[in-house]
Amino acid sequence: MYLVAKRLDVVEPSPTLAITARANALKAEGKDVVGFGAGEPDFDTPEFIKNAAKLAMDKGQTKYTPVSGTVTLKDAIIKKFERDNSLKYERKNIIVGVGGKQVIYNFFMATLNPGDEVIIPAPYWVSYADIVRLAEGVPVIVQTKLENNFQITSDELKKAITPKTKVFIFNSPSNPTGAMYSKKDIESLCDVLIKEKIIIMSDDIYEKVTYDGMEFFNPAMLSNELKERTFIVNGVSKAYSMTGWRIGYGAGNPEIIKNMDTMQGQSTSNPTSISQAAAEEALKGDQSCITEMVKAFDDRRKKIVAALNNIKGVNCRTPQGAFYVFPYITGVYETDGFKKLLTANPNTSKSKLFCDVLLEKYEVACVPGIAFGDDSAIRLSYALGQANIDKGVERIAKMISDLG
Ligand code: GLU
Repeated sequence: MYLVAKRLDVVEPSPTLAITARANALKAEGKDVVGFGAGEPDFDTPEFIKNAAKLAMDKGQTKYTPVSGTVTLKDAIIKKFERDNSLKYERKNIIVGVGGKQVIYNFFMATLNPGDEVIIPAPYWVSYADIVRLAEGVPVIVQTKLENNFQITSDELKKAITPKTKVFIFNSPSNPTGAMYSKKDIESLCDVLIKEKIIIMSDDIYEKVTYDGMEFFNPAMLSNELKERTFIVNGVSKAYSMTGWRIGYGAGNPEIIKNMDTMQGQSTSNPTSISQAAAEEALKGDQSCITEMVKAFDDRRKKIVAALNNIKGVNCRTPQGAFYVFPYITGVYETDGFKKLLTANPNTSKSKLFCDVLLEKYEVACVPGIAFGDDSAIRLSYALGQANIDKGVERIAKMISDLG
């Protein structure tokens, strides 16, 4: 008898979380591992946000809340959209979930029928394709090019569309590449999407982490017609260093929201009441904590890009947002040392092999590019202290020089 459900045959464990778990296990054994794995700001959650949680507990806000989030948090989200994106929503357009990931999961469960196609530009965040598969949809991957700043062009998009296309995933700033779309770039993609009546899922989780004055836009911000077709996902994890609190939110069509509410009501019920109170304060309170974090990320960004580009065989673009670099290491794949490794491990992808050796022998955790749909690269999160970044990059350089 088949012990487990077949539906899990089509998905893999989240590679970002798996690598971080392995790195933590090695650390627990006493190894001095540098973790460039899961993207998680190293800063503490700001004090005023933690205080809001304490106050909520003291006030007895420890019971069930409405499944889709408290009225006061929804109102804070509505105000955030007005303040930051000039977008007007009502409560019926908003849902609060257990992190951005659950919001994405429930969105696809609520919108896809078996066989519906979802266009995902690669490199993509590790969980998109697997969530689509779990929802019985079909991920249609479109490979973008390094020389196009990893952006999908409108011609590439047109070619991927079929009568079964239902959703297009838009993610800017991108995880893993850090690439950002300008307003003009988004307009040309949206011209195609509007004509074909495709729903856009805009993952805005890195909205606040942008550099060099790059202005953030999502498709909903461009026109009312586009707003009607766009479902926005955002959350407090990255902007306010609140990854463990698990609060994400979505905004879009009330019919979709209602179905997501049903999904949530039959699975998790409401997100944690105390976390919701904290998230509300994060969105309403002084936003200068973000500026400070982003400034620190920016310094690290410049240093890590320069240091990686100093290594022979590595080609790293400067990200415009988020806190990841996605260096191409195809030059390293050409070395005799790496070719030997590959011959000894013929069933492993190149980026995975590189990352496996890097972790086990050189004690540095990175995520293989293959997990993001691009085997030419590896991903490093630079949301960790500068001393660790320097140590980690030195070890990567040592491994590459050892490969010859
Ligand atoms: N989104 C982060 C990352 O890509 C956190 C881990 C995860 O959920 O994938 O590293």
